[in-house]
Amino acid sequence: MTELLFRDDAYLKTATARVIAAGDGVVTLDRTLFYPLGGGQPGDTGVIIRDNGERIAVVDTRKGAEPGTVAHHLAPGAAPPQAGETVGLEIDWERRYALMRLHTALHVMSCVVVAPVTGGNIAPDKARLDFDIDIALLDADRIAAGTNELIARGVATETVWITDEELDARPELVKTMSVQPPRGAGRIRLLRIPDIDLQPCGGTHVANIAEIGGIAVVRIRNEGKRNKRVEIVLRE
Ligand SMILES: [Zn+2]
Repeated sequence: MTELLFRDDAYLKTATARVIAAGDGVVTLDRTLFYPLGGGQPGDTGVIIRDNGERIAVVDTRKGAEPGTVAHHLAPGAAPPQAGETVGLEIDWERRYALMRLHTALHVMSCVVVAPVTGGNIAPDKARLDFDIDIALLDADRIAAGTNELIARGVATETVWITDEELDARPELVKTMSVQPPRGAGRIRLLRIPDIDLQPCGGTHVANIAEIGGIAVVRIRNEGKRNKRVEIVLRE
């Protein structure tokens, strides 16, 4: 198992960890800052720093082959650290913070466009959600204005854990969720933006939605019968 440090503190930029295994361009650690690709959010990049000061670039992060582990992918040909070694970790914070701002912006926007979400993706420079909706109902200016109005409330985000049973006992929660939460892990992580959004999510978010600043809708496009795509960028 890899301890997921970003889960409790998405703002950690550096940490130390022990190498559990290394080979085939993949390093497994006992704990990590690096978010693995999932939920539409890309895997983190950054560096693993050895005791001798050598910096090994991490070019991508994915879920590991073993359940509960994280695979840090090195650049082709890079020499990995040794198993058992203690290393420093550093994520590309500028990239991650942009992803956190855009990711949280999608949560807010999903409450402005009231329709089932059928897809989504986040990149460091833009993000999108796909909705099952009549495209004539999607107005770029209105979506941007509505989203920015909510962002201007400047409320703090909260992580809430509930059990499968608690979710079953509170069916009204599911109504506000765009995606049915994964079952079977025993507990489900939710992101709550008070009075705005509540939905299951394992990604990294900003602590206060004011950090998003504001968004612009740059494109609305038909990507299929049930996929009307709304693409956003950060305004600044
Ligand atoms: Zn999220």
